[in-house]
Amino acid sequence: MSDEKTIFKKIIDKEIPADIVFEDDLCLAFRDVNPQAPTHVLVIPKQEIPSVADLADSDAALAGHLLLVARDVAKQLELDSGFRLVVNNGPGAGQTVDHLHIHILGGRSLVWPPG
Ligand code: C5P
Repeated sequence: MSDEKTIFKKIIDKEIPADIVFEDDLCLAFRDVNPQAPTHVLVIPKQEIPSVADLADSDAALAGHLLLVARDVAKQLELDSGFRLVVNNGPGAGQTVDHLHIHILGGRSLVWPPG
């Protein structure tokens, strides 16, 4: 991992602004700056974990917490008719920021399979 802070670490450290919709000791949820749906939020751990592939077995509670926060944010933002959670892992899957994040997408109908 490079020594330079990722853009998400700068958001966690409040060095750059973000439209935060939820925050606790372990994670942060904020609106994506380039939304792919009417509602597009990212849930990220405050701990610097680059990707799902980098999760350790000892991160199980944190990984579960991120999923439950995604559930709560979807409810908070009234995505009652449906929402999708996406985690891109690695460049071949379209991951562009090396800090684990769960996309929450909703507010429109979503086709399957995704691109
Ligand atoms: O899964 P992926 O790594 O491609 O997702 C990164 C996401 O981070 C993109 O959807 C991008 O729009 C978002 N982003 C952001 N704020 C930034 C930089 C990137 O919301 N300052």
